[in-house]
Amino acid sequence: MKTIIEPFKIKSVEPIRFTTKEERTKILEDAGYNPFMIHADDVLIDLLTDSGTSAMSSDQWAGIMRGDESYAGAKSFYRFESAVKKITGDEFIIPTHQGRASEKILFSILGGPGKYFASNTFFDTTRANIEFTGAEAVDLLCEVGKHPEQRAPFKGNMDIDALKAFIQKAGKENIPLVVLTVTNNSGGGQPVSMQNIREVKEVCKQNSIPLFLDACRFAENAYFIKKRENGYADKPVLEICQEMFSYADGSTMSAKKDALVNIGGWLSLNDTDLALKCRNLLIVTEGFPTYGGLAGRDLEAIAQGLEEIVDEHYLQYRIRSTEYLGEKILAAGVPIIEPPGGHAIYIDAKRFLPHVPAEQYPGQSIVCELYVEGGIRTVEIGSVMFGKYDKNGKLIPAMMELVRLAIPRRVYTQSHIDYVAEVVIDVFKRREKLKGYHITYEAPMLRHFTARFKKF
Ligand SMILES: *Cc1c(COP(=O)(O)O)cnc(C)c1O
Repeated sequence: MKTIIEPFKIKSVEPIRFTTKEERTKILEDAGYNPFMIHADDVLIDLLTDSGTSAMSSDQWAGIMRGDESYAGAKSFYRFESAVKKITGDEFIIPTHQGRASEKILFSILGGPGKYFASNTFFDTTRANIEFTGAEAVDLLCEVGKHPEQRAPFKGNMDIDALKAFIQKAGKENIPLVVLTVTNNSGGGQPVSMQNIREVKEVCKQNSIPLFLDACRFAENAYFIKKRENGYADKPVLEICQEMFSYADGSTMSAKKDALVNIGGWLSLNDTDLALKCRNLLIVTEGFPTYGGLAGRDLEAIAQGLEEIVDEHYLQYRIRSTEYLGEKILAAGVPIIEPPGGHAIYIDAKRFLPHVPAEQYPGQSIVCELYVEGGIRTVEIGSVMFGKYDKNGKLIPAMMELVRLAIPRRVYTQSHIDYVAEVVIDVFKRREKLKGYHITYEAPMLRHFTARFKKF
């Protein structure tokens, strides 16, 4: 088998700025040891997120010029609508400025006190939009999905028995919606199998509960199905996507992921009454139904991105390049969530730094060291992000201590990724010298964005 190459050539380049280790030590100190506070220009390789960081193609940039900026009924809207319909098969396609805007609209209408929503794992903005209405959001991830070191093909699956028990307990009349997140971002970018989607749908149908997809990485999920699930090896990815959506009654989408654009989203659905309510709310919060918080050129870029994302050469390269990074650092003994997910590698900081307790934020320690050592920006997903305090002010740690290396789409080449692996392995080799951190400032909510730290 030959090397799987980047399925594109580079027409326009953006220089990255090199800094010295001494400069980075000072930059990090000034940023309070929080990489969110670092200027992007001081970062060499930015793996903070895969959201809105994709490189657009020349056809997408051409679409930007073609964008029709008419307020109502723009040509670009109809191209967008038809591209989204081709994949989802849904009747009503509502453009929004990003995923959380779709969530806000959907859950303000369906949520409220006494309501319950279930998912394999809710993403944080989705959970926040549900809880904001007074409703409850419940994660029903399959057991193997909770164990970083255990390998299974579909660790993003929902636990079907838990779903049945949940419906029994909460009462089907109190559950407006079940959501499957594909792939499961908060659970390591792990895919959901077609069989699981089918089974979840069957349970929902028996109880007259609609099923929606949180579809941000639908194409990456479809590619995993093609590679790992019986009966799909010869099916085109587009048809696998269409089958996934055929079991759902609607979807919320952040186009900043698998639509290969820098901003955008949608809400798609088939229920006429619900669509009417959603559009009415959209007009108040986002804009007229044929642009929904976006410019015509953005709609055009999304439509084009949706054609490119189901290209199997692209997906082969995408999934392989993430796996490549995972394999390389795993071979050197670095503990990660296994197997590698679609959009990111997650280092298991608990096993990487067993001598640093959760109260001293082992994930943050690795994040800081990767920046100083190699100018690589990553993000802690552990007790800095999800830790809470008990009434005595003692930290209640998060379930896992992770460092996420998210891979932007079509942005970095194999040698960039080789460099990232070298830096990670370098830091791993001298892990015993890494120290913990304590927080010197934190905001009352979402503290990870602005917190400041000091080294022990
Ligand atoms: C990014 C993301 C969202 C929210 O989308 P935004 O465009 O950032 O508002 C929702 N769900 C999942 C799974 C995501 O990855």
